Amino acid sequence: MTGLRDDAMGGELRSLLTGDVLTRETAGYDDARRVFNAMIDRHPALIVQCEDRTDVAVSVAFARDHGLEVAVRGGGHSVAGLALTDGLVIDLRRMNDVSVDPVARTATVGGGAIMADLDRACTAHGLATTGGRVSTTGVGGFVLGGGTGWLDRLFGLACDNLLEAEVVTAGGEVVRAAPDSHPDLFWALHGGGGNFGVVTSMVLRLHPLPASTFGLLLWQPERGPELVRAFRDLIENGPDELGGGVIFLTGPAGEDFVPAALVGQLALAIVLVYAGTETELRRVAGPLFDAAPAGQYVAELPYDELQSAMDDPPGYRNYWSAEHLHALPDEAADAFCAGAADMLVPSASQHVLFSMGGAIARGPADHPVPWRRASWVVHPFGLWTDAADDERGIRWTRAVRAAVRPWSTGDVYLNFIGDEGRERVVSGFGADGYARLAAVKARYDPANMFHRNHNVRPA
Ligand code: FAD
Repeated sequence: MTGLRDDAMGGELRSLLTGDVLTRETAGYDDARRVFNAMIDRHPALIVQCEDRTDVAVSVAFARDHGLEVAVRGGGHSVAGLALTDGLVIDLRRMNDVSVDPVARTATVGGGAIMADLDRACTAHGLATTGGRVSTTGVGGFVLGGGTGWLDRLFGLACDNLLEAEVVTAGGEVVRAAPDSHPDLFWALHGGGGNFGVVTSMVLRLHPLPASTFGLLLWQPERGPELVRAFRDLIENGPDELGGGVIFLTGPAGEDFVPAALVGQLALAIVLVYAGTETELRRVAGPLFDAAPAGQYVAELPYDELQSAMDDPPGYRNYWSAEHLHALPDEAADAFCAGAADMLVPSASQHVLFSMGGAIARGPADHPVPWRRASWVVHPFGLWTDAADDERGIRWTRAVRAAVRPWSTGDVYLNFIGDEGRERVVSGFGADGYARLAAVKARYDPANMFHRNHNVRPA
């Protein structure tokens, strides 16, 4: 019966759209409902493959009229599977055009573009903006949640580069959010996520990037405490052009630069990304190159290639969390390193410490991203294949958080976590930020239609 009802609704909606509507009976449905996290297995009644803003507005009205829960899908990277619902999915992936204005140094980006679409278009002009560290992440979910990347210490958070957006509201209205048009909504899109409507396109600020260099240096994990200190000192005293992270991971097979002793074993990696040449990186990060890496890959790469150097395929079971640190004293560095011991190895999991500071910290103080003040973020990123490892993987992630909590700011970047309860949502925006977002929510989505997100309830 449910299938028949869904097919009837699908037929009705299809007749109103340029794009397609998929139901359980339609070819391609299973592919279309798949998201990055293989733990998520939901069967939407309708998946609307929107072609343009009108399709989005029609879908919003249809969902409202038929009492269907709505989810908005960009890159599908949300660890909690927020891009899916049992009701109607507004799938934006066909709306992935990116056009670059090299003179104004801006990119106009479709609401369903992924990082690869954006980075490719920018690289062609020697331009770049802060992007996610994996090329398949959706630009929409990434920017609206804040957005951190390899060059955020130089270019700021992704949302700091958001200049305007086109939004389909819960009422089906298409509005332009910019400093001179719906400024309250514009403010809310700087970290408030998908709470306020469907962003069908956005304009991002770009920056010149004549050269970019990627480095991945490997050591035995026992050298963690010494090298985390070295990396910390380098970043805290180094130029904004230098970014990166410490990542405990399983040494990958099939890469010439990975010594045999680390393949399939816990390894310590330091990723260095530099907005400049290889020669400059080797000079700036000299102490790490001098620390006798067991293996290394260093190359000046076009920005789009650099951005996909650490890509992970979809299909793993995922559980992640994060803790933002106000400082990284030696004890915190040691606690971070100790956390690697219980990571699932071998697996695709990563035990991550990302640098912050620089332009992130100098960004607008009033945006609802209080975590921008943190100096470091510890991000246990659990990825594995076997459901039998779920309990262990999740326990590890939580234990890492607990171990570094003494140095926590108390804020959290919500794009780095799943559903961890109301308190964590509020701490993602800050209490003042949450209250202000709730007022904006009441204006643009009073019935909380867009609640498949880190949800702000209307005031
Ligand atoms: P989706 O699951 O499609 O959507 C996530 C949320 O955003 C949903 O609530 C959705 O409704 C909303 N949304 C998406 N697009 C729109 C839109 N156009 N309009 C309105 N709402 C929208 N984050 C970082 O900051 N830096 C990183 O380096 C980074 N690396 C990552 C690497 C991997 C492998 C993965 C899986 C995630 C990574 N993330 C990173 C986290 C990522 O930023 C979030 O998962 C983000 O939500 C992904 O956006 P999406 O569009 O792909 O996700």
